[in-house]
Amino acid sequence: METRALGKTGIKVSEISLGGVAFTWLGRKRAEKLIDFCIEKGINYIDVYSGTGEKIRDALKRHRNNLFISTRGNSKTLENCLKEFGLDYFDIFLLSMIDSKDQLKQAIDEASNLEKFRRQGKFKILGIATHNPAIYEPIIESKIFEVMMVPVNCIDEVDNKVYQEARKKGIGIIAMKPLAGGNLQKYDSAIKYVLNLPISTAIIGMARIKEVQQNIRVLKNLEITPEDDNFYREIRKKLGKVFCRYCGHCIFPQPCPEDIPVRTIMMLETLAYQANLRRNVSEKTLKSIERCRKCGLCEERCPYQLPIRKLLPEKVKWYLKMTC
Ligand code: SF4
Ligand code: SF4
Repeated sequence: METRALGKTGIKVSEISLGGVAFTWLGRKRAEKLIDFCIEKGINYIDVYSGTGEKIRDALKRHRNNLFISTRGNSKTLENCLKEFGLDYFDIFLLSMIDSKDQLKQAIDEASNLEKFRRQGKFKILGIATHNPAIYEPIIESKIFEVMMVPVNCIDEVDNKVYQEARKKGIGIIAMKPLAGGNLQKYDSAIKYVLNLPISTAIIGMARIKEVQQNIRVLKNLEITPEDDNFYREIRKKLGKVFCRYCGHCIFPQPCPEDIPVRTIMMLETLAYQANLRRNVSEKTLKSIERCRKCGLCEERCPYQLPIRKLLPEKVKWYLKMTC
């Protein structure tokens, strides 16, 4: 597999990489097999989530010398994360859920707290994960972070200038959600779109070996065809106004006053497909929408102006019909 420079970090990452979300529901054996297969096929970067260490720490250990590993957290959680995954260091440590200018200020302070851990060799590269395009430029200007993890997919047209600027400043871009959380079934067009941008790697939350195989096949020819362009136009028309980017602004930092897990409900389609249409979202969560008093606060916070009040019952209805 081709590799690309991750900004000026000195490391080269595979064009596609493995997002660790599937390890939250895969069993240990399947998780290990998935990692083994990815490494065999040349994927050399994996992003892992706290809570999954038990299942994958042995596989990470086996492949440590051929694998760049990232996770997210802060100066208080870093050492526990290392313990959980049985690692001496992370290649990339990300401050995540940084979606407002205030949070960016706090992240910059936190970056200096983290420096002592970098000096101790507990991580090598400092990154930041955000869903808010409005803070891309301030992040680049801050010159604190060597890597930015941002959502990139063909539903939202991308302002290429920001990526060019990041590249000029030596910041590596990790493109998350290239398949829009499973909403882009035409994965070949979706992957091509992302990899034709000046990004370093598209990180995909793959759960099955079959998915890895099909995504790798796309890499043979990344040329965008008129058919792909047509798909991009159609999908923007279809999903542009109703597609949840899972940024979490509707619940962080202020939750819904009725404690409705808005983002989870908005994600139901993705969760259903991830679980092969098996129902694994609790009844309590599904019923929570009955408490919605239509105050509209969630919509005020949504950067994509989604009609959340209208969408919540539609999502639950779809979920109940499609899953068993
Ligand atoms: S509209 Fe409903 S879901 Fe949104 S914040 Fe208000 S109560 Fe919560
Ligand atoms: S509903 Fe809007 S604010 Fe909430 S997670 Fe989705 S895109 Fe973000």
